[in-house]
Amino acid sequence: MTIQNILLNKSELTAQDIVGLLKCEGSELKELYAKSAEVKKTFVDNIVYLRGLIEFSNLCRKDCKYCGIRKSNINVSRYNISDVEIIHAAKFAFENRYGSIVLQSGEIKSRAFTKRVTNLLDKIAEMSDGKLRVTLSCGEQTYETYRQWFDHGASRYLLRIETTNKELYYKIHPNDKLHSFEERIEALNNLKSIGYQTGTGVMIGLPFQTYEDLANDLLWIKQMDIDMVGMGPYIEHKDTPLYQYKDALLPLKERFELTLKMIAVLRIIMKDINIAAATALQSIEKMGRERAIKIGANVLMPNITPGKYRDSYRLYDNKPCTDENPEDCQSCIEWRVAITNNTIAYDEWGDSKHHFQKIR
Ligand code: SAH
Repeated sequence: MTIQNILLNKSELTAQDIVGLLKCEGSELKELYAKSAEVKKTFVDNIVYLRGLIEFSNLCRKDCKYCGIRKSNINVSRYNISDVEIIHAAKFAFENRYGSIVLQSGEIKSRAFTKRVTNLLDKIAEMSDGKLRVTLSCGEQTYETYRQWFDHGASRYLLRIETTNKELYYKIHPNDKLHSFEERIEALNNLKSIGYQTGTGVMIGLPFQTYEDLANDLLWIKQMDIDMVGMGPYIEHKDTPLYQYKDALLPLKERFELTLKMIAVLRIIMKDINIAAATALQSIEKMGRERAIKIGANVLMPNITPGKYRDSYRLYDNKPCTDENPEDCQSCIEWRVAITNNTIAYDEWGDSKHHFQKIR
């Protein structure tokens, strides 16, 4: 038995075990991916769920040092898609049998914003006769706001912790009240207690980040008993403060491979959760998301934001598909999923099995 084989057959992996897996190469790496693919097939099957992603506003009050739509970036033209256009995009997803959508935005915290999203949820339920599942990804909000959105039909929420190393967290965010590490964790706990299928994730290949940090991220996700995960490579953006460290980063190809390894290990330690094939993978390798699906991811988020806004939701440089429209996605995802030997589950909500297993 090889070292990897021993690791893969242990029931609980330690941080040290995970570091070993994240560093493995060659035939050992092949074993890792074969194992995670097998776990995927057994626990969630070779099925891919779709979430039409609508990036409805890039207005943001935060100043995260990695993000292209951070408040201080004056080179972004700010937009706020009208309700009519959002409903139109949701309708596109519904008619193309996506089963679910994600409404994502920069972070705005106001009574008007809460009300607007509530109203959008009502309109989407009305348009789809309650048949379209809605995931929200609108940053940190109060317990009451999360509760209100849940009561109006939002059933899943994505809020990445970005990194679970507090020291690193404050290297990539301003160290102030608006960017509190504790409050982000509290927000995740609130989402869980309200009953959302709760999603989180981290960026991989950040400046100053170590293999141990990444191993601890995975163990933290497990300990938090998270239902859905989206993790992607960190990709530098030239109009952000972290860009100054660009020469100290792992090469893009290595950040890409490390992300795949993280997905594989996560699938092994959390067998029945939903894992997204992050868009950022595709910006490094054309077939990046397909590789993620092969080794463990089971969720794809086709971008259905109206084409004219996409260029302004540039979280990182070389973000893919910013010159396309929703219709272009449709033919594209069909063949992309087909080559992974997975099947798209049309008209399905694609809920996290893990979530319902634990509340049963
Ligand atoms: N404002 C929302 C979500 C919008 S950004 C929130 O706070 O949850 C969505 C995600 O994009 C972030 O959580 C972050 O992980 C990712 N992202 C931002 N900048 C990035 C970069 N430079 N490289 C890779 N991913 C990035």
